[in-house]
Amino acid sequence: MKRIQFDLFPHGKRKAVTFSYDDGQIFDTRLAEMFDKYGVKCTFNLNSDNLGKRGYVDASFVRELSARHEIACHTLTHPHLENLPLLQVTQEIYEDKCALEDITGKPVCGMAYPFGTYNEGVKRVLRSVEILYSRTTGINPKFTFPQDDYEWHPNCHHRNAAEKAEQFLGIAGEMSLMYIWGHSFEFDREKNWEFFEHLLGTVAGHDDIWYATNLELYDYRHAVQSLRISAKGESVFNPSALTVYASVDGVPTAFAPGLTKLKRMP
Ligand SMILES: [Zn+2]
Repeated sequence: MKRIQFDLFPHGKRKAVTFSYDDGQIFDTRLAEMFDKYGVKCTFNLNSDNLGKRGYVDASFVRELSARHEIACHTLTHPHLENLPLLQVTQEIYEDKCALEDITGKPVCGMAYPFGTYNEGVKRVLRSVEILYSRTTGINPKFTFPQDDYEWHPNCHHRNAAEKAEQFLGIAGEMSLMYIWGHSFEFDREKNWEFFEHLLGTVAGHDDIWYATNLELYDYRHAVQSLRISAKGESVFNPSALTVYASVDGVPTAFAPGLTKLKRMP
């Protein structure tokens, strides 16, 4: 019997860091430069109705950004979704998704709730329009994946991130995910770009950390969950297109797409 534990990110790393920034104001250009300088990934949640308007990023920036980061929905016009008729919720999300997909040329499957608010009806709509996860403005005190993909609570807003990052970096040996969110306009308003650059300098460049977008994390986690493992743990079939990693009898092991035999067959 092989003991298999799902406690590793890609390439056997034990930690992951992700960022999520909302609203697509023009300050996203400076923020994206900073993420790129430090090799850190972000999910940018955008209201497509605002793109190209005064004070907001435009479609060509979003297209270029989508090559390195995730572009995700934030609805067309940033309403309180829980107050809308469900048909209008559908329209707000579906049309935002279509517009962002037209710009990026790829499926846009992530979302952050405007104002962080939602209800069960809103979550049902997300499922029906192929949105795979949505971020809230709640707080997950643990460095874990969400229980419910449609209630993905981050660990903290960036204003509280220095302390959180210190806690995260101090963890040893345990699979941990740190998730930070905010808006780029807050750095302009509060004149604290340097604070954020310092934070990135602290969390970036670690060999044991995977820097991933929200959707990359979602895809990886679901690829792990899709593994089919024989009863004795001696063969594993990975039906996904991603190589996933797990500890087998304590040894980091890669499972490429397809069949992996952990024991030589007679
Ligand atoms: Zn917003």
